[in-house]
Amino acid sequence: MSVVAENKVVTIHYTLTDDDGEELDSSRGGEPLEYLQGAENIVPGLENALLGKNVGDKLTVVVEPEDGYGERDEEAIQHVPRDKFPAKAKLSAGMPIHAQTEDGETVQAWIVDVKPNQVTVDFNHPLAGERLHFAVEIVSVREATAEELEHGHPHGPDGHHHH
Ligand code: ZN
Repeated sequence: MSVVAENKVVTIHYTLTDDDGEELDSSRGGEPLEYLQGAENIVPGLENALLGKNVGDKLTVVVEPEDGYGERDEEAIQHVPRDKFPAKAKLSAGMPIHAQTEDGETVQAWIVDVKPNQVTVDFNHPLAGERLHFAVEIVSVREATAEELEHGHPHGPDGHHHH
């Protein structure tokens, strides 16, 4: 039996729904998701629940916000002058952007509102504060390669591509 364990590359099919049963994301009908167990490629609540499970197992995992995308932080919503963005950039609500923090780290954020002189940017993940319901099927488990372990993510059937 192939068991999900630290440093294994695990392939899963999943459907993610919110508390109201509304589907937020799914791998069904497309490629399954591959991740490296123990490398925080997926939210901690799901990674912990999959540890020790077997290929073929189907399970439902409910992940609280603190083990998912975090609680919403209202202070993470910021108003940025429009001229901080390229003049020609077409900005619209819902658009993901990359922003630099004060320590020069690149983080993902989302535009929530655009006014002529001001853009409102939300640094919370769109699923922050949500309880996540995952219906998961474990498709395969294999050993990670040395390169995958070094990078902290799987490289997939087509070999290496960088992020
Ligand atoms: Zn890599």
